[in-house]
Amino acid sequence: MSSQSLFKRHFQYPPISSSEAHGRVNLIGEHTDYNNGFVLPTLIEQKIQVSLGPRSDTQIVGISEEFGEKTILSDSKTDGTWIDFVRGALHYMTEEGQTISGLDISVTSSIPTGSGLSSSAAFEIALLRALCQMLEIELSSIKIAQIGQLIEHNFIGTYCGIMDQMTSSKAEFGQALYLDCENLNTEIIPIFTDYTFIIIHSGSTRKLSEGLYNERKRETEIAAKDLNITSLRHAEITDLKLIKDPKILKRARHVISENNRVQKAVQYLKQNSAEAFGNLMNESHFSMDKDYEISSSELNHIVKIAQSYGALGARLTGAGFGGCAVVLTSNNQRNDITEKILKSCSNSYLVTNISKSIILN
Ligand code: ADP
Ligand code: MG
Repeated sequence: MSSQSLFKRHFQYPPISSSEAHGRVNLIGEHTDYNNGFVLPTLIEQKIQVSLGPRSDTQIVGISEEFGEKTILSDSKTDGTWIDFVRGALHYMTEEGQTISGLDISVTSSIPTGSGLSSSAAFEIALLRALCQMLEIELSSIKIAQIGQLIEHNFIGTYCGIMDQMTSSKAEFGQALYLDCENLNTEIIPIFTDYTFIIIHSGSTRKLSEGLYNERKRETEIAAKDLNITSLRHAEITDLKLIKDPKILKRARHVISENNRVQKAVQYLKQNSAEAFGNLMNESHFSMDKDYEISSSELNHIVKIAQSYGALGARLTGAGFGGCAVVLTSNNQRNDITEKILKSCSNSYLVTNISKSIILN
């Protein structure tokens, strides 16, 4: 259902503004964004839609197709539910000089949540776009991404980097977004035409605000402190010998090596070298499993099966601890490898396929 239809059904009047934002899949560069490093995501077809209508009282009345109804006062404290995203968005709109007393809001989505496809950022971006439309103001895509990140930090409690919000806000279909998270420089690179990134859900999900994500962030901050640098973006592999704690060393090794892999992957994508790109994906998964310890038995199984049937590369994607894997195959092998994975991994399902050839057709 569209958010407009849901809005009319629930509130008995048409919305004044509606907007949407897509989820993303990260092709390589995991847990590097909050270390001011490099990432290479692209959009997926799945999206979140938000419709809005202003209220004259001070209530926020929300209906999410997926997460249900919620009514609160706009100046009330966060309560750990989905309406916190709306609380946050209204807060930052007020900081932008806007006055909103109350709000009716409907949300519909095709993005699986807690799966590494960034439903939370897509929600923030769709919501902020709809608010801008309602208020007849313009904010740049970078500003919208930055507000989305602030909502996540200060109203949800996930101390995320800016990859998800920048991708939902700024990326284009069929293009990878090479993002430098230190200065927000971006480069658009076309994805492969003769190869496909297959996104497979492992069947298990997680909630980032539950703490494991923030724990990894803290560990990398300790590593940067040990090395006397502002972030691991500025570290080299040879610096690792200066880190004493074996766990902190492993976390740092993942981030430093992953940053190197993203930079190489960008070159391989430009050169259409899918095999070399795939090797980096395999190395990335190994590093996330062994050093960053964010994989799961289901994700490892998908990666192993994909590799054993001839995929060029496979890795978990997103924050990890469950969620999705991304598998790179030639277009010819795509259906066969997908079938093999789905057959041998119970509860797994196909989310989407990403290839320039699919988008062009
Ligand atoms: P991810 O961003 O990887 O999907 P997160 O744990 O960061 O996972 O965010 C999931 C949270 O985002 C949900 O628990 C919910 O609060 C919010 N959210 C996602 N989709 C919706 C939706 N359709 N309606 C309301 N809230 C949503
Ligand atoms: Mg999220």
